[in-house]
Amino acid sequence: MTNFNFLLLPGDGIGPEVMSETRRVIDWFNGRSNTTGNSFDVEEELVGGASIDASGIPVADGTVEKALVADAVLLGAVGGPKWDELPFDQKPERGLLRLRKELELFANLRPAICYSALADASSLKRELVEGLDLLIVRELTGGVYFGEPRGISELENGERRGINTQVYTTSEIRRVVRIAIELAQKRGSRLCSVEKANVMESGVLWRQEAQWVCDNEYADSGIEMSHMYADNCAMQLVRQPKQFDVIVTDNLFGDMLSDEAAMLTGSLGMLPSASLGAADENGRRKALYEPVHGSAPDITGQGVANPLAMIGSLAMALKYSCDMGDEADMLDRAIANVLDNGLRTGDIMQAGMQQASTEDMGKAVVAELEAMSA
Ligand code: NAD
Repeated sequence: MTNFNFLLLPGDGIGPEVMSETRRVIDWFNGRSNTTGNSFDVEEELVGGASIDASGIPVADGTVEKALVADAVLLGAVGGPKWDELPFDQKPERGLLRLRKELELFANLRPAICYSALADASSLKRELVEGLDLLIVRELTGGVYFGEPRGISELENGERRGINTQVYTTSEIRRVVRIAIELAQKRGSRLCSVEKANVMESGVLWRQEAQWVCDNEYADSGIEMSHMYADNCAMQLVRQPKQFDVIVTDNLFGDMLSDEAAMLTGSLGMLPSASLGAADENGRRKALYEPVHGSAPDITGQGVANPLAMIGSLAMALKYSCDMGDEADMLDRAIANVLDNGLRTGDIMQAGMQQASTEDMGKAVVAELEAMSA
């Protein structure tokens, strides 16, 4: 029996709206703690524009300290027009960036799951995406977005030159590949490592190190490891996405491939994510869970936001931070059932379906959980 400590950071715009439905789900799990054996202590703090309005900074030191000791941090969204004119280093997004940095979250997990009820909303044919369930693990703190040298300089001939450096070290590659292998073990045991080893030395190193981890540290794991060039992977994702189980790749390719995979499944309002750090001596990883979408200022305050990406992020927290895989699967099934029953927020509305508010959706998920556990 474990008591988990969740830090909730609703943030700005629709963040508080989708978080309050997620809290409804957490409360439901707490209500049946005598059957699961586990319970959740929940604390809420400000981040982003909400924190700027309260104290002038996008995240307070005390909030970062709480995030560092929490079993999981759940974040809604940050940002909005009210804070757009602030200097870059004072913007709401800095709060999120600081949390990611201080928690050293180097692995970003983006599942692409296609619920059959939404398969027709995909830009691909139903048979290509129905039942799709793949996971992209993106390295988040290294590579070309951080490499030195970088910058724009003036050349003697009057031209300007822009430079960024793709750079990876052994340890940076190995630690993210380890996470990807461990995740693949809990799924279909197939891992595809993606780079451009045909034209980039950093890609050659990535491929060698990924294979090394698999051969030397997980030799008996039953993992089927393959390698693919990033351009081919981009093509395969639209040609036959169900061939993949887990993909592990660098920061740049992961940025693009995870957005491509996300769009196979439909709306932004459906996409959860997780970012994980290194494991401590007890195997516990620092972790932040958040929907992929932003604060959606255009629909804020109307009660129409889709809370399923945020609730799906809670399902990921149950799976990866609480070792509650059965409960996570149950929550994912509850989401699928709500969609099968025809309930839709505006972003995923289809002809003949029933229009639902943010609150309707949260309540329907809880009702499904209740029905499943009856
Ligand atoms: P957005 O994701 O907020 O919205 C894009 C479109 O998708 C909008 O039309 C919005 O209404 C819709 N949408 C998004 N989530 C939805 C949901 N759950 N239900 C229904 N519809 C939904 O992206 P944007 O408009 O480019 O950015 C708005 C603000 O959010 C900006 O300030 C941006 O910086 C910030 N942002 C924050 C994060 C984050 O917190 N991680 C991520 C992206 C953008």
